[in-house]
Amino acid sequence: MNYDVVVVGAGPVGSTAARYAALNGAKVLLLEEHQSIGSPVGCTGLLSTRAVAECELKPSDEFVFNSVRGAFVHAPDGQSLPIDGKQTKAYVVSRKNFDRKLAVMALEEGVELSLRTRAIGFEKGNLETGTGEKKSYPVKLRILRNGTLETISTSVVIGADGVKSRIASYAGLEKPARVLPGIQIEAPYASEDSDFVELFPGSSAPGFFAWTVPIDEKISRIGLALEPGLAYKNDRKESSPIYYLEKFLSSNPHVKSRYSGGMLDFVVGGIPIGPPERTVSDGVLLVGDAAGQAKPTSAGGIYTGAFAAKIAGKIAAEAALEGNNSAQRLSEYDLLWRKGLGKELDIGMKIHDYMGRLEDRQLNDLIGSLNTPSILKIITEHGDMDHPSVLMRKLMFSGNSLRLMKAFGAFLKTLF
Ligand SMILES: Cc1cc2nc3c(=O)[nH]c(=O)nc-3n(C[C@H](O)[C@H](O)[C@H](O)COP(=O)(O)OP(=O)(O)OC[C@H]3O[C@@H](n4cnc5c(N)ncnc54)[C@H](O)[C@@H]3O)c2cc1C
Repeated sequence: MNYDVVVVGAGPVGSTAARYAALNGAKVLLLEEHQSIGSPVGCTGLLSTRAVAECELKPSDEFVFNSVRGAFVHAPDGQSLPIDGKQTKAYVVSRKNFDRKLAVMALEEGVELSLRTRAIGFEKGNLETGTGEKKSYPVKLRILRNGTLETISTSVVIGADGVKSRIASYAGLEKPARVLPGIQIEAPYASEDSDFVELFPGSSAPGFFAWTVPIDEKISRIGLALEPGLAYKNDRKESSPIYYLEKFLSSNPHVKSRYSGGMLDFVVGGIPIGPPERTVSDGVLLVGDAAGQAKPTSAGGIYTGAFAAKIAGKIAAEAALEGNNSAQRLSEYDLLWRKGLGKELDIGMKIHDYMGRLEDRQLNDLIGSLNTPSILKIITEHGDMDHPSVLMRKLMFSGNSLRLMKAFGAFLKTLF
């Protein structure tokens, strides 16, 4: 073997998986097809305090632009629900610098990083050892390094190659259930309060929501994501993400009055939700966006991806060093990441589907009925970007059942 573990993709998840594989004794190679870490960016860079901690980073000026403590949820009719978490709940980061920090941490643990190196296919070798239960199928990974074709041999490949994962295809693993198209600009925007993000559910972004995330009081990241099944119409032009974004910027009265035109940055990308049934096969693990681990309620993939990456790195290293890279051995990863995240992602998908299908009129009623001091207190105390089920449970068992029954119908009961 040239390597025990090869990680394909040096995004935040790949760097974390590589670091954990090295920490567990493996010889690790991390491949990145681009010539620079953290670029191009396909993200809003809104990370919960928990997400930053999960990545084992301390918030610092090196990557944090701004801290936010809550959200204004804007109903389609213009009413606003203020949710004030009272303390820092999330950071707005430079994804470029954040990704680089994680890559440096991997290098410090002895990971070898190869830029301008694209994985383009692999073959699984013959069974090398067949003694007892142990099996080892070396993986011959074909790569293009600086344009030159090479083959490297490894025990385990970790596919951290994002939403379009080629490693998933090479390994014959299913893709995530759905990919939400997202679009965003960074632009001059006079924030109402730069300690708060703004969320706009409803027909501005069918099936999901639009957002503004302040970098400071004068510049925000303004974007949206869509549920293709709900947003796409026969006329593709009138259902493209850019169509919805232009409409949002020019016709939402709140946004229009604060956005002064132009842009400093433009981002498009897909958000994979609904992990496939299997995220391992012989010699291969999938993690992060490649495994559809983004949260269906917020589109955030860093917290969940980092959580799963640490397990992936550890199991990949242990399996490689034991000389057993069979799918059966690697399935411990599948089991463990689902134990930690599976329930939350399932509940998140139900919330995503329920909220996404509400019409503007229903959203106006729902948001209006949540705007009472006692309900806002519950949301403030228990709202959690990473674990929406906690708030849903608290709401369900709060003393506001009649009001909430009216707002959510039987939906809350179907969640648990
Ligand atoms: C518009 C938008 C906004 C978002 N906002 C947020 C947010 O605010 N907060 C949040 O937590 N998440 C957000 N996300 C999701 C987040 O960006 C992803 O979940 C996260 O980047 C996933 O990390 P990853 O390492 O799995 O994949 P990626 O970050 O996509 O990294 C994959 C890496 O693999 C490399 N690669 C791909 N194929 C190959 C190959 N064959 N060989 C070598 N290298 C390869 C790519 O170049 C890339 O560097 C957003 C996504 C979008 C689209």
